Amino acid sequence: MRLIIMGPPGAGKGTQAKFIAEHFGVPAISTGDIFRANVSEGTPLGVDAKRYMDAGEYVPDEVTNQMVRNRLGEEDALPGFLLDGYPRTVAQVEELDQMLAALNESLDAVLVLTVDAEELVQRLLQRAQVEGRADDTEDVIRRRQEIYVEQTAPLIDVYRERGLLVEVDGMGEVAEVSERLFAALDRVPQS
Ligand code: AMP
Repeated sequence: MRLIIMGPPGAGKGTQAKFIAEHFGVPAISTGDIFRANVSEGTPLGVDAKRYMDAGEYVPDEVTNQMVRNRLGEEDALPGFLLDGYPRTVAQVEELDQMLAALNESLDAVLVLTVDAEELVQRLLQRAQVEGRADDTEDVIRRRQEIYVEQTAPLIDVYRERGLLVEVDGMGEVAEVSERLFAALDRVPQS
């Protein structure tokens, strides 16, 4: 299974990605998590990424694409994967298309979690208290939502036109959202 999970910051992508990846026995690959791991290890990639992340901006495409290219080439990702937080720009979609073509693979579905904007801000402010992420301050949260609308939301139409889009209501309890996701995934033909 080769899947993407999309949705605005705070939609619950990371939480749901772990359940889905476990169910299909594929790695959940979160670009945000990889960046954060690099930041805490103080790698050159982490130092570079941190200034964008702290401002709520996207890390430049070349940096992100190369990181994903390396990760998808690893052994555990060869049978399948779930991408969480990538692609986020039209240029990243094109790059991912090339990576998959080179591996002679294709996507099975693109999941989109839809969540009410006000609920998103509340969820993120709550997460800020629990996890203390540097990019969960109110200003940065707002900036991340804006960037999502400008740069990432247009990808929904791209994947809809390809017939890959699976939209799922992301409101409510974690377990309810999971149930909806699995019910929707049952209808996706697997490659
Ligand atoms: P996330 O945990 O997915 O919300 O990602 C946290 C931050 O990492 C984002 O706000 C961006 O700064 C950066 N990031 C994660 N994925 C990408 C991506 N695909 N392209 C550019 N920046 C990204």
